Amino acid sequence: MSMLKIVINPNPLLRKIAEEVDLKAVGTKDFNKFLDSMMETMLAKDGVGLAAPQVNESIRVIVVNTKNGPLPMINPEIIKKSINKEWDEEGCLSVPHTFGQVKRYRTVICQFVDREGQKKKIEAKGFFARIIQHEIDHLDGILFIDKAKNIISDTYTL
Ligand code: ZN
Repeated sequence: MSMLKIVINPNPLLRKIAEEVDLKAVGTKDFNKFLDSMMETMLAKDGVGLAAPQVNESIRVIVVNTKNGPLPMINPEIIKKSINKEWDEEGCLSVPHTFGQVKRYRTVICQFVDREGQKKKIEAKGFFARIIQHEIDHLDGILFIDKAKNIISDTYTL
């Protein structure tokens, strides 16, 4: 495992549409090493989620922190969303010192491939659903600041 460098906005890498992962790669030593490094980097940076484009890999992989530990999701796709949306505060490791209110679906059902190559489906609610939507946006070149209102920055230049 090793720490990965976080790509900081503005950087064109954060605006690219990420490529689907070829499932032949899933389960290989190199791919698992990459997933472990993503999880380690997210935890070391106190992040609740991380998308591969944020560590310089334009592929459809995200990791999200859950009650049961970090969960890697390969080729994640939201297949169902609630009608209800809610506003809450978000930040992003690629947009340091910046926070804003973003409206997200309250509940989503997400389909993905796990690190063993198995197809999975999970229902996520509240904060967990929010993280998944934020991270999948990264795979489509979208940053939370594109959608946020009341953006604040906690750094000041004197
Ligand atoms: Zn982010």
